[in-house]
Amino acid sequence: MDTPILEFQTHSPDETITAGEQLARKLKPGDIVCLSGDLGAGKTHFTKGIALACGIPIEEVSSPTYSIIQEYGKAQNRVYHIDAYRLESEQEALDIGLDEILAGNQLFVVEWPERIQTLIGSEYWSVEIKHSGDNLRTFRITHHQ
Ligand code: ADP
Ligand code: MG
Repeated sequence: MDTPILEFQTHSPDETITAGEQLARKLKPGDIVCLSGDLGAGKTHFTKGIALACGIPIEEVSSPTYSIIQEYGKAQNRVYHIDAYRLESEQEALDIGLDEILAGNQLFVVEWPERIQTLIGSEYWSVEIKHSGDNLRTFRITHHQ
C-alpha cells in the first residue's frame, strides 16, 4: 500500500471544491489525476476545485456522462476531464486518440480510470473517495511514480 500524501474530510460540496484546489497546487503540467468513488461521491465537485485553481469558471465543469472527453480552459491552463465509464475496451480508447491526448502537457482528471489503466501508465495521482454519512466524504490521495 502506498502511504497517502494528502487526506481530506469534507462536509459540503464547497469543502470538496477547496480540497480539489489544494491538490491542484501540487500538480505539474502533464499530471493525471485518477478519481475513484461511487456515483455521488463528489468526483465532479473535486474536479471543479482543480479547474478553479487553473482559472476555469466552475460552472464549466459538469459530469462528462454523455461525452468521454471534456476540455476546459485555454491552451496554457487547459484541463481535460475524461470519463472512461462507457469505453468498452482500451482499443476503443486508442481509436478516439486518448493515448495521444494523455501524452500532452495539460492536466488530466480521469473518472473510471481502471478502464484505461494501461494508457495511464505508472505515474499518476490516485484520489479514492468514500461516502461516509450524509454529507461526509473522505479523500485519500496518493502519488504513484
Ligand atoms: P460524482 O461526480 O462522484 O457522481 P458529484 O460531485 O456530481 O459526484 O455529486 C456529489 C453530490 O453529493 C452532490 O449532489 C452534492 O451536493 C452532494 N454532496 C454532499 N456532501 C458533499 C461533499 N462533502 N462533497 C461533495 N459533494 C457532496
Ligand atoms: Mg460526476
